Amino acid sequence: MYLIETEAERILVDTGLHPGAAADPAERYGRPDALGPFEAEQEQSIADQLDLAALTMVVLTHLHFDHAGGLELVPADVPVVIQRAEWDAGHDEAAAQRNFFLPDDYAGGDREVRLVDGDHDLLGDGSVELLLTPGHTPGHQSVRVGNTVIGADVTHFASTLDDGRLPVFGDDLDAQSRSAERLRGLRDSGLTVLPGHDADVLVPGSVPV
Ligand SMILES: [Zn+2]
Repeated sequence: MYLIETEAERILVDTGLHPGAAADPAERYGRPDALGPFEAEQEQSIADQLDLAALTMVVLTHLHFDHAGGLELVPADVPVVIQRAEWDAGHDEAAAQRNFFLPDDYAGGDREVRLVDGDHDLLGDGSVELLLTPGHTPGHQSVRVGNTVIGADVTHFASTLDDGRLPVFGDDLDAQSRSAERLRGLRDSGLTVLPGHDADVLVPGSVPV
């Protein structure tokens, strides 16, 4: 997850795991096999790392449990911004099942949900742009901040932009391939593209943009 700070905004991009997903997934999700083959660990939740009450907005790249699970920890008056295609898939039983979405991660509450269709200038000044990059999930989005792109799960590893090796799982591998191609184009034009799960590339701390 990332925190984007401007003079007026504190925008959280993704929320990490719900603490319960690491502590006791069966209890958290009401079934023992909720996380499939994954066994989650968590050192610190977003609540341990941030003043959540100071957030102005949450952007979700997609609805997988390791990106959306912590949403419940964010105060209910903080709006969430997500692609309409992702939100719709999360509320379609077949699509949710196919994508291993866990509705407990994003259900409930009176939280304002701002649905976006395609690329979107988030603050209206060109500084933060949502990029529709579907495939990993139906409405996956990436986030460009200045000259840095939070690619999220378009590619788990930086090397994928060059070798094209996608994770086995994906809602639509052709679409994901095109999304990876798009991010590769941005990288080749001089932007920095951050992969989703690459421990050799991603280090905790501030990211220059
Ligand atoms: Zn994912």
